[in-house]
Amino acid sequence: MALTLDNYFLPGWRDRRHTCDACEWQGTARQMPMELHEDEAQFDCPQCENPLLLVVHPSLAQVQAAAAEGHPEAIEQMAILASAPRPH
Ligand SMILES: [Zn+2]
Repeated sequence: MALTLDNYFLPGWRDRRHTCDACEWQGTARQMPMELHEDEAQFDCPQCENPLLLVVHPSLAQVQAAAAEGHPEAIEQMAILASAPRPH
């Protein structure tokens, strides 16, 4: 079973160690290949491709809240959103 993380801005998730149930590989999300899906980013075991971690894409409210708390990535995303052309 893949672990689902519903807060992208939770500190330290990229450095958290995971163990693959299927092949007992151990490592962090930094070592796993990532697949982007519509609603989440999926991190797979590099040895057997078993999905280990699902990180749900942050909502605008989550980005705003994290930016308000000083999260550097969220501040960057807010800047990107602010400069993007608005759909009409
Ligand atoms: Zn594995």
